[in-house]
Amino acid sequence: MSAPETSDRSAQSDTRLRDRHVVVTGGAQGIGRGIAVRCARAGADVTVFDLDTETAAETADAVRGLGREAAVVEVDVADEASVDRGVEEAVATFGPINGVVNNAGIQRSVPLLETSEAEWDRHFAVNAKGTFLVAKRVAGQMIADDVAGSIVNISSVGAERPFTGQGAYGASKAAVLTLTTVLAKELAEHGITANAIKPGTVETPMVTQWLEEKAAQSGQSPDEVLSESLSSHILDRPAQPEEIGHVAVLLLSDEGEWITGESIAVDGGYLKG
Ligand code: NAD
Repeated sequence: MSAPETSDRSAQSDTRLRDRHVVVTGGAQGIGRGIAVRCARAGADVTVFDLDTETAAETADAVRGLGREAAVVEVDVADEASVDRGVEEAVATFGPINGVVNNAGIQRSVPLLETSEAEWDRHFAVNAKGTFLVAKRVAGQMIADDVAGSIVNISSVGAERPFTGQGAYGASKAAVLTLTTVLAKELAEHGITANAIKPGTVETPMVTQWLEEKAAQSGQSPDEVLSESLSSHILDRPAQPEEIGHVAVLLLSDEGEWITGESIAVDGGYLKG
């Protein structure tokens, strides 16, 4: 089964995020770019936080090509001072932040017995602490600016049904789910919602690298690893990044304002397969 030809058709007259300012972390490529572009199709101006500003500039061009404003800020989500500077710059450029998508993440496929302390710490620094630092800083900004905003955290199906080799990754993504619940509870009084998305297999550079690592470990080819992984998805195909963006837009929009503390699998049925 192939991906829908025009997953953007549904977005042609979408104004749900008109003139809102959305920050997308890790928006240089992959799912983050798909989310940034999908938000722009819904009318948002987008600030991209990423370490890779050169590639992020391509995302900004894609957003501008849709008639919206875009900015790129070099931010390491695992570093509080960097996050502080990034949020200050984003607000100075486009004004109050209405929504943030905590998408920046890393994944290495390593069996637990071979996982070094440094690898474990790096997964938690970027995936778990990075989500915490950005959510904390942006939520504080939303409160100061009197904005009833939305926080969307990108977890993973690996938080609940990990493959072998996803020990550090899956555990760090499970931490994101717990963090999301507490954010929802503590921020509700400020009118801020917090939700998580658990993507299944999405065609991105991260997945390409994961397929190569799994293939090297199992003696299979990357294509064999992919088809084995897809056979666990009820819809037997990978997603395109914007398909995660569709759900992010819902959660960032007024239509999502009564959804909070939720984690939504956007996974072609992987968790039920
Ligand atoms: P990717 O590797 O293609 O892109 C990740 C982006 O995050 C890159 O632009 C990278 O530069 C940026 N980044 C990494 N560390 C950073 C840091 N410290 N500070 C700022 N930016 C940083 O990954 P992807 O596949 O697009 O995944 C995006 C998110 O979705 C990740 O959180 C990932 O765990 C999650 N996810 C992906 C899949 C999938 O199938 N691709 C499935 C489930 C969850």
